[in-house]
Amino acid sequence: MSTKPLVYYPSPNLNQASVAVVQVDGDVRALVKDLAETMYANSGIALSAPQIGDRRRVVVLDVSESRNSLLVLVNPEIVTRFGQQQMHESCLSIPGVYEEVQRADRIEVQASDRRGAPLYFKASGLLSSVIQHEIDHLDGILFVDRVEA
Ligand code: ZN
Repeated sequence: MSTKPLVYYPSPNLNQASVAVVQVDGDVRALVKDLAETMYANSGIALSAPQIGDRRRVVVLDVSESRNSLLVLVNPEIVTRFGQQQMHESCLSIPGVYEEVQRADRIEVQASDRRGAPLYFKASGLLSSVIQHEIDHLDGILFVDRVEA
């Protein structure tokens, strides 16, 4: 477990689609630990594997005030989207940029957890926006790409 260097915009690595995890094994759990440690070390609320140079579809999030509610999503997918919301977003890979982004308000998410068990849950508000931002990373999309000109 170690803190990894972040990949910064405009690295072309941030524009590549990531690859589905076939099996949640020890190697994936090591990636999860690296992601979590790097996210917390950088005071982030979320981090995706491509942001530390790994092209597997894994993200970690913690939107809690207490910074002790780690959520791990392997192969996350948004099953349904409802409504719209605008949030100011930032990104550890694009320091100093804050932009308002329009996204779905409520979503239903399917994923696996860090043990490979299936997850299915609803999210709204900040968590919903953050999950959409992170899944975008797995698809090679940055939040600045979604800002309307
Ligand atoms: Zn980001």
